[in-house]
Amino acid sequence: MSLNDEQIERYSRHIILPEVGGAGQERLLAGSVLIVGAGGLGSPAALYLAAAGVGHIGLIDADEVDLSNLQRQVIHTTADIGRPKIVSASEKMNKINPDVKVTTIKQRLTAENALDIIKDYQFIIDGTDNFPSKFLVADACHFAGKPYSHAGILRFSGQTITVVPGHSACYRCLFQRPPPLNAVPSCSQAGVLGVLAGVMGCLQATEAVKYLLNKGKLLTDNLLVYDALEMSFRKVPLKKNKNCPLCGENPAITALKDEEQKACDSREEAGGMPPPHTMMVYHNMKLTIKKEVYNSMIEAALEAVPLEACGLLGGNDGIATEFYSLNNADASSEHYSMIPEEQFAAIKKMRQNGNRMLSIWHSHPASPARMSQEDIKLAFTPGIVYTIVSLETGTPVVRSFEVHDGIPVETETILKA
Ligand SMILES: [Zn+2]
Ligand SMILES: [Zn+2]
Repeated sequence: MSLNDEQIERYSRHIILPEVGGAGQERLLAGSVLIVGAGGLGSPAALYLAAAGVGHIGLIDADEVDLSNLQRQVIHTTADIGRPKIVSASEKMNKINPDVKVTTIKQRLTAENALDIIKDYQFIIDGTDNFPSKFLVADACHFAGKPYSHAGILRFSGQTITVVPGHSACYRCLFQRPPPLNAVPSCSQAGVLGVLAGVMGCLQATEAVKYLLNKGKLLTDNLLVYDALEMSFRKVPLKKNKNCPLCGENPAITALKDEEQKACDSREEAGGMPPPHTMMVYHNMKLTIKKEVYNSMIEAALEAVPLEACGLLGGNDGIATEFYSLNNADASSEHYSMIPEEQFAAIKKMRQNGNRMLSIWHSHPASPARMSQEDIKLAFTPGIVYTIVSLETGTPVVRSFEVHDGIPVETETILKA
């Protein structure tokens, strides 16, 4: 393939980039990307991939344009209300760039059709808006060996990761199965900032372009978490999980199936723990510790020296207003273990107060405020942070961590608020 005069002009800002050049632009024109969902994420991705001259773009979506979509699904206009999204979207894409062949599929992606659809594309963009679909895209791409970009958005927060099957951590390495129904609110229940969808969809398009060009570093083995209110981007490093039900050593999932979200009854099963899976906020927690709570925690830590003290912090919206000191059953200066009955009683009390468990805290009488290997091994409660009070230097140092798949990530801790 060689570029004609019009193409040389159209793509001139690409072509002058040494990383793209004429050869790179030809790769894009020969490339193919499937966008699953022509909604908030799919709209900006489709516009930019068309503009970039990705030669074949597939678009799968079964829905029609609704008035409430227009706040973020920028490929559709007011005049498109009631029309199939794939028709509305493909028209805009071809208006932007007639070089692009758009294949439209007015279906939902299902376990039955997924492999047949994605086989024709080099890279997949997951622009779906519900957990069963996200797991289906992840599984289908795994079985087809197709790289894909996952993204999720809610309220003011987005997350994205790129997966290259066989090489990098997959979506199920992070989240083994969909959360129970209603454990995590959807955008229609909790709202979403329109422009957030644009940011995340553009990040996904960037990954697709880089993949086709074979340039740069893909967002693999890292979950990028974007907080629009704080204007912060954070990369959370991840590892392939050898117990992953999809890509692990002994995978439980060996064929595609449509995932269902189970009704949420996990509270009772887990003995009063908050429901597992708070996917959107899991990696984005912040802990504020009220002054009285902070003082009680330091006091309990000092009193226990030389042993480790431990307990719980309760509250709401990341603000710890309740302090609990529990017995360290190990009576050790090296590690702690809590008595489950005591722990459950404290959690029950928090719930009576309209609160939930935000943190498990413990002290390090003579070691730094870092998660020890033992601490990490015991950190299996999802949706909370682990707070460590170090007395090593004489002045208490308090730090908090989220732990996922054995990787501690420090969270912001605001003390004595
Ligand atoms: Zn995996
Ligand atoms: Zn420790």
